[in-house]
Amino acid sequence: MSVRVRYAPSPTGSPHVGNIRTALFDHLFAQRHGGQFIVRIEDTDQARAVEGTEQEILESLRYVGAQWHEGPDIGGPHGLYRQSERKAAGIYQPVIDQLLDSGAAYWAFDTSEELTEMREFQQINKQKIGYFGGVWRDATPAQVEAAREAGKPGVIRLRIPRGETIVIQDGIRGRVERHSDDVDDPVIIKGDGMPTYHFAAMVDDHLMDITHVFRGEEWISSAPKHMVLFRALGWTPPEFIHVPVIKGKDGAKLSKRHGDTACLDYRRAGYLGHALANFIALIGWAPGEDREVMSMDEMAEAFSIRGIQPSPGVFDPAKLDWLSGMHMRRLPSEELFSMVADYAGRSESQDYWQEKDPAVAGALAKLAGAATEAPELARRAVELEQERVTNLAAMGPATEFFFVDEPEFDEKAVKKWAGQPHVPAMFDAFIAELQGKETADEAVMEAMVKGWAEANGFDKLGPVVHPTRVALTGKTVGPGLWELMAALGPAAVCRRLLRGKEALA
Ligand code: GLU
Repeated sequence: MSVRVRYAPSPTGSPHVGNIRTALFDHLFAQRHGGQFIVRIEDTDQARAVEGTEQEILESLRYVGAQWHEGPDIGGPHGLYRQSERKAAGIYQPVIDQLLDSGAAYWAFDTSEELTEMREFQQINKQKIGYFGGVWRDATPAQVEAAREAGKPGVIRLRIPRGETIVIQDGIRGRVERHSDDVDDPVIIKGDGMPTYHFAAMVDDHLMDITHVFRGEEWISSAPKHMVLFRALGWTPPEFIHVPVIKGKDGAKLSKRHGDTACLDYRRAGYLGHALANFIALIGWAPGEDREVMSMDEMAEAFSIRGIQPSPGVFDPAKLDWLSGMHMRRLPSEELFSMVADYAGRSESQDYWQEKDPAVAGALAKLAGAATEAPELARRAVELEQERVTNLAAMGPATEFFFVDEPEFDEKAVKKWAGQPHVPAMFDAFIAELQGKETADEAVMEAMVKGWAEANGFDKLGPVVHPTRVALTGKTVGPGLWELMAALGPAAVCRRLLRGKEALA
């Protein structure tokens, strides 16, 4: 059978890094095996549903480049892809009937007070906590009938067999055993008739011909229940791969403090989708041969369940920045420019940076303006910064000096080069040479600067190049000086040197 995997989120909030990693593994595994990737929305817990989350989930998947073949937005041969709709369409009913008829499931009419009492009794008596029987597991059909006729609210529970070993085959851990006496009888249909995860996810995985289930490690403790359900229905379970959790560098569970933000916040912050995908996939998955910077296709090519590490993956934001920078450099500069221009002009980016750091928002606005008003300069500016910048947002501050006539001077830079006697004369010489010129290419600029250095006895270019750069950009670091001078053009260079002369006096 060809590989079929699914990502089955509950629409209870913005997807985070951990959620999206599971979806990426699905995507990579499907692509690796020429299989199908299905998105299914598990919205049976309507009380926990958060409006708009489904769109955000699909948007997050698009952002990181995961591609699905069936889903709520595109449909597919397996009918409905939202569980609430599957429930309404009556898809689950025959399965429920089958389980009740065979005795694999049973009605239970415990009130919430009775359940609380049971739990308290178990706690006090140091017994296992959970529903291991109660009155209803062994109730007679007549008792059940009477309760139903009396209109008592009831749930349907799965009957876990007692006194046996349940075996789970996990794709990462191998064989895992659990004694059935330690597994309580889960609710599979709630009082309102809605199925729970234990039921709906397993039934859908079967009906959708899912072959491999990648899901969070937190589900492994429920896996025995799922095995019992599959067996009761005479179905072969898919292969389960319980993906380890993600932790912060300090070993604590991933939290906001570690940067576990909503996936789409990374887009707002300026990270390229495929760079984020690369970063997320490598949390807990090792492609081998120490490979790190990889495209989606390269990752799919290398993907295997064996490469998933059994220990928790570690979230390292410094690595994200490094990888992100590597992906920025890999892009053809023309493509990078259109991505930067698009990003800088988006209101999403503006809103994000207005709140985080208005200076970045301001710089991005200038870049967006330049991209339409002075596209040649903007294109060249982005190209010259490509080697240094880690994400799309950082391109704003990095290129800002190109687009303002009077770039802000970095105090330290000024201090370092102020009062040097050779500087004013040198700037005057450059101005004299460039004044009135329409353009001057890199070679001309280089010859001019080096020529002056030689004529004035400077063996080392530092004292020549650095103050000039400070005058032109306000900063000590930046693109190569000749490229920079050519990009700015003679007129702007002259204006800035004049101003620099004062600042460095
Ligand atoms: N709906 C479950 C969740 O969001 C899915 C778990 C699974 O992939 O089976 O946690």
